[in-house]
Amino acid sequence: MRKYAFALMALIGLYGCSSKVEKSNSKPHVVATTGMLYDAVINIAGDKVTSEAIMGPGVDPHLYKATQGDLAKFNKADMIVYNGILLEGKMSEILKKLGRKKLTVAAAESIPKELLKSAIGYKNAYDPHVWFDIKRWKYAVNEISDALIQLDSTNRQFYEANTRSYITQLDSLDQYVRNQIAEIPESQRILVTAHDAFTYFGDAYGMQVEGLQGISTVADFGLKDIADLIDLIIENNIKAIFVETSVSEKSINAVVTGCKEKGHDVKIGGYLYSDAMGEFGTEEGTYIGMFSKNVDAIVNALK
Ligand code: ZN
Repeated sequence: MRKYAFALMALIGLYGCSSKVEKSNSKPHVVATTGMLYDAVINIAGDKVTSEAIMGPGVDPHLYKATQGDLAKFNKADMIVYNGILLEGKMSEILKKLGRKKLTVAAAESIPKELLKSAIGYKNAYDPHVWFDIKRWKYAVNEISDALIQLDSTNRQFYEANTRSYITQLDSLDQYVRNQIAEIPESQRILVTAHDAFTYFGDAYGMQVEGLQGISTVADFGLKDIADLIDLIIENNIKAIFVETSVSEKSINAVVTGCKEKGHDVKIGGYLYSDAMGEFGTEEGTYIGMFSKNVDAIVNALK
């Protein structure tokens, strides 16, 4: 009898022990809201963590509501990364609540306030599309790096080295963008798109940016906005305007038709990735890939 009890205890002990071992061996799990943030996590953390993104290609973060499946992912995560500055407008409350329970980082909110542009038409709000200026985005990348070190300090050196190398790649991308934009005649450096996702891009790389819909796709646009945009395109003899992968192209098509009626032929210069990247696993499914594809499309259509 005693022998049996001992065996049972040993068995319990063994199980208890093995589950502990499993816990300490399993990698931390990181959940990011957007593809841009997810890509930064992968570049810094490599295979030291498991990670996933809530919003895939073509998803509009301004309108996106968390599903039951997303809530389960958030709850399971050891660390959550989101953009903040109200980009994930319909998930703000959930993310704030999760922030009281676990390591949660609003990466873009690490950018100094004086570098943020105010959101036109919104009181006391900032424009959240910070990833289109590489210099500003580097603050977010460094913030994610710091958070990963806080999550898993044993791999500090690994994360620091990867962050340095990723920042170097971002610096070369920044230089590439400057060189490319310089190919467009100065009078043609006007970027017309569906919504104002490119304000920081324009600010950083010297382009005038005109969006039909304001900084959030939640806001509506009127006939006057379309008429104003048509006038601007004709006055400046703009050759091409752009659609976005995460925004309906209806509005931009209305502008093209309006220009044609007034005798000005404006082309669709291509699809720009604005608030979402391409398919994960492809070049445009990475931050660097989607940024350079955007710039190539803009330069090819306007130069
Ligand atoms: Zn947007």
